[in-house]
Amino acid sequence: MKILLIFDKDFPINKTRLFKFLSGVTTEIKFEIYSKDFSIEDSVITKPGTFNKIHPAIDKIETFDRVFCFTQKQYIDNYFIHEDRHLSIFSLYGWNYLTNLSISNGVIYLIVDYISLDINPTDFRHHETTGCIYDFLWDKRGIDDGMRQARFCLNCLERISSHISDETQLKIFEDLKVLMNELSNASKWNTDILNKIEESTGTIKKRKTKSQDGVNIVIASPGDTDIERRLLLDSLERKFRVDNHEKHCGKRIMVNGWEDLASQNGYAQDVINKKIIESSDFVVAVFKHKLGTPTKDVKTGAKRAESGTSEELLQALDISKSSHPIGMAYFFSAAPVISLDAPDKEKIESEWKRLTEFKKSILDKVIYKPYTEPTDLLSIVLKDLEKNIMDYIEK
Ligand SMILES: [Zn+2]
Repeated sequence: MKILLIFDKDFPINKTRLFKFLSGVTTEIKFEIYSKDFSIEDSVITKPGTFNKIHPAIDKIETFDRVFCFTQKQYIDNYFIHEDRHLSIFSLYGWNYLTNLSISNGVIYLIVDYISLDINPTDFRHHETTGCIYDFLWDKRGIDDGMRQARFCLNCLERISSHISDETQLKIFEDLKVLMNELSNASKWNTDILNKIEESTGTIKKRKTKSQDGVNIVIASPGDTDIERRLLLDSLERKFRVDNHEKHCGKRIMVNGWEDLASQNGYAQDVINKKIIESSDFVVAVFKHKLGTPTKDVKTGAKRAESGTSEELLQALDISKSSHPIGMAYFFSAAPVISLDAPDKEKIESEWKRLTEFKKSILDKVIYKPYTEPTDLLSIVLKDLEKNIMDYIEK
């Protein structure tokens, strides 16, 4: 599927970064960005009036499956999208009244929205705001929630999954999922989805350690990793020294976990974020068969991240914050063994599914590695830390 993206004169988006982002995450959908100067003359967009003027003005328009044109001008009916032949015009008029998220996130949302409608076998739309990509958005402010959640609701997911059999459509569907993961991850932390692109083009800049005493490492892990966690907390620091990793990289490490916090008031995850994650240089996340309990926003009670560990890791991966720690993640190599009559069979399965989804969602953000047993984990983490300290930490 070949899609041409055209931006109205002065549309506030970094096209180079947008192109890098899109070509980095999608495989079936191929995007191109119109290189010539372009502007919409009409002060208000109408159909077919504006479409009739634009259509003949675009070079090689017929060589694309779809042409998406973005503008900040308003439609006469104030809607987001209309189409005529294979040209669609997306209006992001009055963006700042709809949301405080970046307009780049809006562009990605509308692209995903359009393609989701395209692969939808029925005309189904939600008429209320649910956060599902099939929301009609009668109240345009619903786009804020739509970007933060960027998801198919369960019903819609089932409908799409059961109707698509065509290979190409399946690949497009996969591209959509990746785009939606990127969109919700950026939006829920209030960051511009294209922020991370600039950084990832070069090598990561070397940084100073946050503490003068050495490199602070925090171990993040859900409840089913007791053995791994104990081993890392008890042995990592000492092994790093006695096995000469400290000598090789010239830095001492200090290993911390939430166990080091004195008991105190406040929502535990917020305390951990503030006191431990923010002052660490590396977050080492370890997963076995569970993702853990979702974290919530204390004020609203809304779900904030899939789990405490994932929140700690995602904070580390949020490169829009200059002081973010560096994330390292390790996943146990084997799926859980479940006997058919286990009373908690369904629970184990659903935990495993959540973990698998999460792993997919961080695929392009962090290099993660499998481990087979706790001692194997310890030796991998030791080597990785030595290398990462040499690569990322100033001497
Ligand atoms: Zn839905």
